[in-house]
Amino acid sequence: MRHPFKVVVVTGVPGVGKTTVIKILAELAAREGLKLKISNFGDYMLRAALESGLVKNRDEIRRLPLRSQLELQRIAAKSIVEEASKELGDGGILIVDTHALVKTPAGYWPGLPKHVLDELKPDSIVVIEASPEEVAARQARDKTRYRSDIGGVEGVARLMEAARAAGIASAVHYASTVAIIENREGRAEEAARRLLEVIKSL
Ligand code: ATP
Ligand code: AMP
Ligand code: MG
Repeated sequence: MRHPFKVVVVTGVPGVGKTTVIKILAELAAREGLKLKISNFGDYMLRAALESGLVKNRDEIRRLPLRSQLELQRIAAKSIVEEASKELGDGGILIVDTHALVKTPAGYWPGLPKHVLDELKPDSIVVIEASPEEVAARQARDKTRYRSDIGGVEGVARLMEAARAAGIASAVHYASTVAIIENREGRAEEAARRLLEVIKSL
């Protein structure tokens, strides 16, 4: 049911602040001497997609044909666990920066279906949340990414509700906890501290 190392899967709608919070978490964890490996699921999918010439950037992945996304998802889950198994012992913690639900042109699509969970075996699934207005504003401010396909405040609100449900549904397979963490405006460090508390209690 579990890897020797602990696995924490961090989810949340695009632009809510997962990567930002995890970066702060890494600093906090280092100060406490915790052995953390952070794997961004999208990085692994992007690497495979670039190799096959399928996309030019990470925000194109969710608009690829579904069969392509499924194959990239399979490759990513497998590679993440292979790497973590080599690098982490039984005191280590694997943090996976990813999505419980992906908005695709073919509909909402699970980021953590059974084949992914069979690889990751999460101890905990964390759902990072903020108000839809805040998330839409963060998306608009962040010019490094294309997130217009999420659909503004309304689109974010709908996806966020469905993504929380998807996180809970994914927790069933491996008896993972679900921790919902607010990433309030200007207070990402608070969210990182809460995430650290969750990790230390596993
Ligand atoms: P994606 O799923 O698309 O990768 P993400 O959830 O990883 O998105 P980030 O890239 O971490 O989101 O953050 C999106 C933007 O929001 C960034 O510009 C970041 O600086 C900003 N941001 C993150 N957290 C906060 C916060 N608590 N307050 C204000 N701005 C924030
Ligand atoms: P991110 O930077 O977190 O947005 O990741 C880039 C892209 O990778 C996402 O927009 C999705 O298209 C894809 N992705 C990330 N995690 C998953 C996952 N678990 N399942 C399917 N696609 C994912
Ligand atoms: Mg991110």
